[in-house]
Amino acid sequence: MTEVLVVGGGPAGAAAGYWLARHGHDVTIVEKKSFPREKTCGDGLTPRAVKQLDDMGLTDELAQYHRFHGLRATGMGRELELEWPEHPVYPQHGYVVRRRELDTIVATNAEKAGAVLLEGHEALTPIVDRGFVRGALVATEHGAPTELRAEYTIVADGANSRFGRALGTSRTRQWPYGTAIRTYWESPRHDEPWIESALDLKDRNGNPMPGYGWIFPVGDGTVNVGVGLLSTFRDFRSVNTSHLLDSYAAQIADRWQIDPGAPTTRATSGRIPMGGSVGPKAGPTYLVIGDAAGSVNPFNGEGIDYAYETARMAADVVHQALVEDDATGLQRYPKQLDEAYGQYFKVARLFARVIGRPALMRELTRAGMHNRSLMEWVLRIMANLLRPDELGPAEAAYKAAAAIARLAPDA
Ligand SMILES: Cc1cc2nc3c(=O)[nH]c(=O)nc-3n(C[C@H](O)[C@H](O)[C@H](O)COP(=O)(O)OP(=O)(O)OC[C@H]3O[C@@H](n4cnc5c(N)ncnc54)[C@H](O)[C@@H]3O)c2cc1C
Repeated sequence: MTEVLVVGGGPAGAAAGYWLARHGHDVTIVEKKSFPREKTCGDGLTPRAVKQLDDMGLTDELAQYHRFHGLRATGMGRELELEWPEHPVYPQHGYVVRRRELDTIVATNAEKAGAVLLEGHEALTPIVDRGFVRGALVATEHGAPTELRAEYTIVADGANSRFGRALGTSRTRQWPYGTAIRTYWESPRHDEPWIESALDLKDRNGNPMPGYGWIFPVGDGTVNVGVGLLSTFRDFRSVNTSHLLDSYAAQIADRWQIDPGAPTTRATSGRIPMGGSVGPKAGPTYLVIGDAAGSVNPFNGEGIDYAYETARMAADVVHQALVEDDATGLQRYPKQLDEAYGQYFKVARLFARVIGRPALMRELTRAGMHNRSLMEWVLRIMANLLRPDELGPAEAAYKAAAAIARLAPDA
């Protein structure tokens, strides 16, 4: 018996465990794998993620890893180096940290704060008692499954979210989703202070391909290289992402001095539910956070920061419900999500539709790559670093886009 059961010990689950433990609650995180464990990811932490990690007391731990201060956009034969914008709340730097290491640090931190972390424990099915979820039936490698009962349950089991599905969550099918693939290559440029993103992917014959590419220097002799695609791209279903990654690796091989035929690991891919597309986000005694709630930003595929942020919101709401002994308080969480991300994600989903058209994507890339200040505010919008206190060009452009989004009911 525990006050709160958290299903999944990735960024969302570990952060939820940390904040609940800090609130003084009895919280148990079950994680089906054992740390350190791999997770397919670009490993990029933007200023929003760094802020959450700082708030969890991990500033010194992070300082051991590769820090970068902006994005290099490439396309149309040009390069633009764009520093992270100044912001009153978020820092002006990011990190690249392999998820094997990052997730271990954050889960250990939750444990140190007082959460119970049960590794190698898989939540099989929810325990439902007179219509209320009261924990889960949990399996380990050894012995029979046991019941772990809880007053509240937080679902943080990632993009596939089998536990969430068992509770009735589903994805809004007409909204976009993403898919991405990545691996690592050795490169002498492994410790550059920029992450790189390519807006014009080409196949080996130089023909344009849908999607975007990234190179994130890890600082340990390797670079994380990947490509991502949105479901709004024409030909989405027929694209072989492994071939797309091969083409991209060939495209960047000389510049980054990588041997395209010799990645250090096998390429792995994953689906990315985004834009708040999975719900419901709350039941009478449970909340859904991180990828399990489709929390990734559709503008850029970042999800680690949103996993931390949604976890923190959920932990605060569960804390209130426990203190007030009133489960109805959980219903504040979907409202808070809507206030924080509702409009922004809607604009981002519309953007995903626009760039899904190759001709428009090409024109936008051309315009952006020829205009530094345009790209600076595009970065501010896409990384969700708009200033609440100031109306600069990025904020004005976003406001205009939001006004258009309001007219599109189903976007
Ligand atoms: C190729 C790719 C590249 C990406 N690159 C980036 C990037 O550079 N930056 C960024 O911010 N985001 C990136 N993302 C998105 C990011 O990986 C996710 O948004 C993030 O991992 C979400 O965290 P989470 O805790 O919700 O889910 P996860 O990280 O998936 O964690 C879920 C955890 O739950 C555990 N689990 C699952 N089911 C159970 C169960 N039944 N019982 C117990 N445990 C269970 C899993 O083992 C896992 O540890 C990328 C995604 C992909 C696919």
